[in-house]
Amino acid sequence: MLLEVEDIHTAYGLIRVLFGISIKVDQGQVVTLLGRNGVGKTTTLRSIMGLTPPQSGSIKWMGSEIRGLPPYRISQMGIGFVPEDRKIFSDLTVWENLDVAIKSAGPDEPGWTMDRVFELFPALEMLRNRRGGYLSGGEQQMLTIARTLMGNPKLLLLDEPSEGLAPVIIQQLADQISKLKQEGMTMLLSEQNSEFSLGLSDGIYILEKGEVRFEGSVEEFMKDEETCRAYLYI
Ligand code: ATP
Repeated sequence: MLLEVEDIHTAYGLIRVLFGISIKVDQGQVVTLLGRNGVGKTTTLRSIMGLTPPQSGSIKWMGSEIRGLPPYRISQMGIGFVPEDRKIFSDLTVWENLDVAIKSAGPDEPGWTMDRVFELFPALEMLRNRRGGYLSGGEQQMLTIARTLMGNPKLLLLDEPSEGLAPVIIQQLADQISKLKQEGMTMLLSEQNSEFSLGLSDGIYILEKGEVRFEGSVEEFMKDEETCRAYLYI
C-alpha cells in the first residue's frame, strides 16, 4: 500500500474537525474523497501533507510513519499537494512558474520536464510567456498541477480541482487527469462534484462531519441506492 491513513483525529485549536478518518491508496489508483462543503476533505489532505498535523492516528507512506513530520519532508518523500486556492506566482510567467518548481528526479525515475508537462497541457505551452495573474481559472488550475508535477511526486493530492471552473473546462481537466492516471500517477482527490470524479476514480470515500460514511469502489457506490441518491449529483 502506498498510503495508509489510520484513524486520524485533527483539530484547528479547540475545534475538532476529523474524527477517526481511515483511507488507503494503492500504487496507480485514483481515490476520491467526496462530500459537501465543510465535511473535512481539505483537512484530510492537509493532515496527510503535515500542514495541519493530526493529534492522533497514523499516516504510513510506503510503510513508514510520516505523521508529525514537517510538510517539506513529506513533500521530499514524494507527496505533492495541489491546493484549492491555486497559489501560483502571479508576477511570474507560466514558464518561470514551472522553472522555479523543477526538482531533479531519482536515478531510476523518468522525471518530469518542461516538455513532458507541455505535452500533457498543450494550452500551457501556448501561454508560456503569459504572467500567472493573467490566466483564467482553468489555466491556473493546469499550471498548479503542472508545477506540482515538476517536483516529481509519487502521489498527487488534488484539493477540489474542478471548483469554480466552467463545465467545458472541467471536462478538459478530467481528460488531463485521466491521461495522468494512464501514465501511472497515483492520485487522491477531494471533490464535491461526483460527476467529475466518478469516471476517474477506482475508489470512493464519502465524508460526513469528519467521518467516513461510505467507502468502496465506484461499482459499489453505484449499487448503493441510498448513497447514490444523496451524492450522485451534489
Ligand atoms: P470545503 O469544500 O469548504 O473545502 P471541506 O470538506 O474541504 O470543505 P474543510 O475545509 O476540511 O472541509 O473544513 C472542515 C471544517 O473545519 C469546517 O467546519 C471548517 O469551518 C473548519 N475549518 C477549516 N479550516 C479551519 C481553520 N483554519 N480554523 C478553524 N476551523 C477551520
